[in-house]
Amino acid sequence: MKDLKLETLCVQAGYQPKTGEARIPPIVQSTTYVYEKTQDMADLFDLKSDGYFYSRLANPTVAAFEGKVAALEGGVCAIGCSSGMSATMLAVFTVAGAGDNIVASQSIYGGSYNLFSTTLPKLGIECRFFDPDAPAEDIEKLVDDRTKIIFAESIANPSIVVLDFEKLANIAKKHGVLFAVDNTLATPIFVRPKEWGANLILHSSSKYLDGHAAALGGVIVDAGNFNFKGNPRYPSFNEPDESYHGLVYADLAVAFGTKCRAQMIRDMGAIMSPQNAFLSYIGCDTLALRMRQHASNAKKVAEYLNNHPKIEWILHPSLKDNKYHSLAQKYMPEGQGGMMSFGIKGSVEKCARFMESLELITQETHVADVRSCVLHPASTTHRQLSEEDLKAAGVPHNLIRLSVGIENPDDIIADIEKALEKV
Ligand code: PLP
Repeated sequence: MKDLKLETLCVQAGYQPKTGEARIPPIVQSTTYVYEKTQDMADLFDLKSDGYFYSRLANPTVAAFEGKVAALEGGVCAIGCSSGMSATMLAVFTVAGAGDNIVASQSIYGGSYNLFSTTLPKLGIECRFFDPDAPAEDIEKLVDDRTKIIFAESIANPSIVVLDFEKLANIAKKHGVLFAVDNTLATPIFVRPKEWGANLILHSSSKYLDGHAAALGGVIVDAGNFNFKGNPRYPSFNEPDESYHGLVYADLAVAFGTKCRAQMIRDMGAIMSPQNAFLSYIGCDTLALRMRQHASNAKKVAEYLNNHPKIEWILHPSLKDNKYHSLAQKYMPEGQGGMMSFGIKGSVEKCARFMESLELITQETHVADVRSCVLHPASTTHRQLSEEDLKAAGVPHNLIRLSVGIENPDDIIADIEKALEKV
């Protein structure tokens, strides 16, 4: 199937049944697979043939979901992980080890920030954070010969910073560094990071890809546009992997994806479960439809909040006075997702009063599913962060994160209006 549009890929990619087979991917709830000939299994271990031998490495239901996301992002392969966090961790470990560093935007999801700022340094991997609005020259200064990844989110959670893809892609290209983009909140429906120079695309599929808040998961997409061969920055791709019969990953057509699965997933596990892959696969069927509804609802809600006297500030890139409006028009003109954040005038207690007065919109840690929900990051997801780190991550104390669902927009606005009356 070639040159299909996104809407078609959402429903068709990843699984094409042969005659007599199930129309949608069966849930292959099996850890292992049988073979009659020893050589057939040996060939699988040697990566000489495709197939399955153990579900920690690959599973047919997971493969269907991986194929769909790879197609949507225009990649050569995808790896389904047990969560968005494990996708980020596995992507980093595929290329970085003790003594290396990564360069990451400071405006990212709190869990990723913790992974980079606290856990990776314990393993000898340093993270150098940058302000995404900083000039390219300042960001470039952070890159040295041990930098393995430049990392940012297409739309940052929860600060709603829209990524200047070209600025980072140019730095990454100049220095021969992998450029990784977490595309969870924009989704390939609104931006395909590969088209703007990204080499790896990551997702927490627990969000819009699944769409129903039913299945935890993550995905790493190898865009297939990075040449590891002879690049001195990546010796582990150019030297034989003794733990894999002396395989040299840079010699393979799919270098990153193969190393990530054959080495990292093998050693660390954290692959997606078949059940979650099934739910995420069928969730993606409606991704294009849902994303347009999320974006159109969010635009209406943002305009409403922008004109409300009790709202101190509101961030959504659809608003003309938003700092990132022009970047959003350039990179994601058809929509900017359903996530926004805003601050209520006055004390932090007013945030709590507002949130508790909502009836339709619920308080949740989650975002980006079909139901509207709110969260107060400073007291929940970002509570480990110091005052200084909160500021750097763009999360003031009165920030309320609103994930606009696909309900009727009039009902969402009416619920907000009633709650604001009680503040
Ligand atoms: N990336 C982004 C942008 C997120 O919003 C999240 C979770 O909210 C993650 C990664 C982590 O994903 P998960 O919760 O599936 O581990």
